[in-house]
Amino acid sequence: MLLEVAKLTKSYAGPDGPAEVLRGVDLVLEAGATLALTGESGSGKSTLLHLIAGLDTGDGGHVRLDGQEVTRLDDAGRAALRRGTVGIVFQQFNLIPSLTVAANIAFQARLAGRHDPERDASLAAALGLTPHLDKYPEQLSGGQQQRVAIARTLAARPRLVLADEPTGNLDEATSGVVLDQMLALVAETGAALLMVTHSPALAARMERRLHLSRGRLA
Ligand code: ADP
Ligand code: MG
Repeated sequence: MLLEVAKLTKSYAGPDGPAEVLRGVDLVLEAGATLALTGESGSGKSTLLHLIAGLDTGDGGHVRLDGQEVTRLDDAGRAALRRGTVGIVFQQFNLIPSLTVAANIAFQARLAGRHDPERDASLAAALGLTPHLDKYPEQLSGGQQQRVAIARTLAARPRLVLADEPTGNLDEATSGVVLDQMLALVAETGAALLMVTHSPALAARMERRLHLSRGRLA
């Protein structure tokens, strides 16, 4: 099993004491599998992705990724996990403003020691980014920045791609095309994909669907 999440809990400090966001989340994902995660705004979808990627720690429960207990890793171990095993397409893109589109796409793959200029070029072409490679993120539209974020993650060939509403800034037709590309690219590398989406049409294209509500998945 590539990913096993068990009884995962997480609270944030709120004005009236701790607010429980995740109340015992259980989830398994096999290598190469695709899963859509839906849930209302504020239900904890981004929180769950951050805990799986080791960007934050839960209060209780387990996250086991590629045989490693993420919850027990130190900072260096979690950083290594993000370099080598898991890639995240953030809701807010998190592109590096001082780097060109081409350098942003190469960045993660270089950290992972898997940089391949030919793959970068084919990803850029597949995602319609070839004319923009020498531009900076601020010169791009939201939808274009989102596609750069997707290319950057896929270029590094992670075993697990976590994508937080990766088509949220794209119109419906473009979303469908971008999802086609993502599914083809994860299939090509044998990666698993866990994607947060608001779109029932996009969720329907994944092998499995789970809904986050009241801190639990169903
Ligand atoms: P979603 O991605 O489903 O919209 P989030 O995971 O972003 O939901 O947030 C879930 C809940 O946790 C929300 O009520 C949000 O306000 C709260 N929250 C998220 N991150 C933090 C944080 N760093 N500090 C305090 N509260 C947070
Ligand atoms: Mg979110």
